[in-house]
Amino acid sequence: MARYTGPVCRLCRREGQKLYLKGEKCYTDKCPVTRRNYAPGQHGQMRKKLTNHGIQLREKQKVRRYYGVSEVQFRKYFKMADKMDGITGENLLKVCEMRLDNVVYRLGLAASRKEARQLINHGHFTVNGKKVDVPSYLTSIGDVIEIKDKSKASPKFKGLVESHRGNVPQWLEVDAENMQGKIIAEPRREDIEIPIEEHLIVEWYSK
Ligand code: SF4
Repeated sequence: MARYTGPVCRLCRREGQKLYLKGEKCYTDKCPVTRRNYAPGQHGQMRKKLTNHGIQLREKQKVRRYYGVSEVQFRKYFKMADKMDGITGENLLKVCEMRLDNVVYRLGLAASRKEARQLINHGHFTVNGKKVDVPSYLTSIGDVIEIKDKSKASPKFKGLVESHRGNVPQWLEVDAENMQGKIIAEPRREDIEIPIEEHLIVEWYSK
C-alpha cells in the first residue's frame, strides 16, 4: 500500500485530536488542531454520527497514523499481538512502541517519528553496533541504539538530545553524552501520550 505523502496535520484534523506528527509545532498554538478542530475538506464542519463500525475504524486509523504504519504491517502486528500472552490490544501497542523509528523518537534522537524514519533510512543509526536502516525494525529488551560515529558531530543531534532529555519514558535509558539509548524494559501502556481505546481495534480485526 502506498504511504501517505500529503500534509500530516490533515491526519490529526481527520482524527479530531493531536497525533504529534510534526515535532515542536505540535506543542505550540500553531497546531491546526488547536486552531481548527474539525475535519478537513468541504464538509469537515458537518456533524456526523459514527456507527460502531465507524468508531472502530477511526480508532484503528488513529493508531496507524500515530505510529506511521501501513495497513498491511499493522495487520501483521495485530496477528503477532494476538499470539502473545496478555491483553491483545496492549500487546499491539507494545509492538508498535518497539519499532526502531518509535524508539529513536522516544529517546529524543529525532523530533518526530516521521523524522526518525528519514534519519534511519539515511543510515544514521546502529543497533548493538550494527547499522540498521529499516524504520520498522523491531527492537528487543537489551538493545543499544546509537547514532553512528560519523553523524555524532552534527549539531542537529546534539540539540535534539539536550532538548528531549527529561521526556524519555521509563522503559528506555538514555546516555546523552554518548548519544545512545538502551531498552531496559517492556514499554508501559501509560507512556502513550494520546488517548487510545485499543479494545476497539481488537474488535475491528476480530470480525
Ligand atoms: Fe500538526 Fe502536530 Fe498539530 Fe498534528 S499535533 S495537527 S501534526 S502540529
